Amino acid sequence: MKAIGLFSGGLDSVLATKLMLDQGIEVVAITFKTPFTENSWAPKMADYLGVNIKIIETGKDYIEMVKKPRYGYGKNMNPCIACRIFMLKKAKEIMAKQYDFIFTGEVLGERPMSQGKRQLKLIEKESGLEGLILRPLSAGLLEPTMPEKRGLVNRDRLLSIKGRSRKEQIALAQKLGLKEYATPSSGCLLTDPNFSRRLRDAFSHGEEDVELLKYGRHFRLPSGKKVVVGRNEEENEIISRLLTHEDILLEVKGLPSPIALIKSKNAEDVEIAAAICLRYSDCKGKGEVKVNGTYLRVKPMDDKKLEEMRI
Ligand code: SF4
Repeated sequence: MKAIGLFSGGLDSVLATKLMLDQGIEVVAITFKTPFTENSWAPKMADYLGVNIKIIETGKDYIEMVKKPRYGYGKNMNPCIACRIFMLKKAKEIMAKQYDFIFTGEVLGERPMSQGKRQLKLIEKESGLEGLILRPLSAGLLEPTMPEKRGLVNRDRLLSIKGRSRKEQIALAQKLGLKEYATPSSGCLLTDPNFSRRLRDAFSHGEEDVELLKYGRHFRLPSGKKVVVGRNEEENEIISRLLTHEDILLEVKGLPSPIALIKSKNAEDVEIAAAICLRYSDCKGKGEVKVNGTYLRVKPMDDKKLEEMRI
């Protein structure tokens, strides 16, 4: 018996996989690399469980889904229902080759947007996997799936967990001697209100540069162009690395200064960016800002104006 497990490396997916392995099912874990998720736990936990892991890189189609999710967003920019459908459709393509069913670590009612009974059914239907998605942690509360009906999986050895309290999962982890596991937060930037605000702003200006949204302070200039200012040395370095041929880097001359990146070469925009950059340096009055090897003498940006431009 072979099954595919959607595997984030979080506790729920680890426990669901363990329940499958305990029934003698051969598992391949699949995890998705998206611009918004940190999945460093997945390979580590797959290794712990002794299962093979496939990492699936998402591309432009994932960004397109986030921009226009068929079933809307959750509290922030998280399109959980469309996201699950997207991932399950990819899993289905893999399953077609040599697997009997798919399982996930979903827990009934744990996440309001995507894990209610109605949503779980909708996700199954839309991904073309009706009856083929087993949720081992909540199976006792859901209709039997094909692998249970066919006796490939013993339903009596599956669980009936529901809700947001993770007490039962934590107790199970302790019983299994699992000492280290990912924290309950989803690890998905799309659920973060600050990141979501930046992403919404970027999409509304036709921008798709997700990586830059993760670092620095962000400002939208009156022209519609964007300025990003590093908050520390590490961010300054990352921002410098994300420079494209359409951008300019700015830095205050002769003083501790952040790096500012402006996505414009227009002289008026550059002057505003220089004033913003100066505002975050140690310079108190007028100062010189290095722009493309020359220097621009400006006053630091006034705080009120700065706030009006902050994203
Ligand atoms: S939290 Fe993020 S990764 Fe998880 S289902 Fe929602 S959008 Fe997808």
